[in-house]
Amino acid sequence: MASEKVIGALNEGRARELTAILTYMAQHYELEDQDFGKLATKMKEIGIQEMKHAEELAERILFLNGEPTMKPDAKIERGLEMEKMMDLDIGLETEAIKMYNEASKLCAAEGDMVSKELFESLLKEEEEHLDYFQNVKAHMERMGAAYIATLTG
Ligand code: FE
Ligand code: FE
Repeated sequence: MASEKVIGALNEGRARELTAILTYMAQHYELEDQDFGKLATKMKEIGIQEMKHAEELAERILFLNGEPTMKPDAKIERGLEMEKMMDLDIGLETEAIKMYNEASKLCAAEGDMVSKELFESLLKEEEEHLDYFQNVKAHMERMGAAYIATLTG
């Protein structure tokens, strides 16, 4: 018998992924438009990983006879300058990591080890995303324009 709590946690995760997808997709287009092609390409790659996360969560929700949400859990921020973009993304990933750690514990308590493993596999990639955004932000702070110039093309 599927736990409503587990379905709720999977849907909270999916809503978070939808926010990340729309945010990173917008950043991809904005950076591309400003000729920061290297960072734009990376945003596109990360956005596609988030799309896969949203699909995996939906598949699990459907398997448990739940209804996958179609709504992001936050307003999508647009038109930020690059450092503010990184701050936003660091925030999104930090929140996702906190959320998925909690969700993984909840799934264990509810005896749903498959959903627990799904959250753990997502966690691994969110940690990589966080690490990437933190590195970009740190380089911007330390090297400024010299680093930003390497992100063009
Ligand atoms: Fe994700
Ligand atoms: Fe992520």
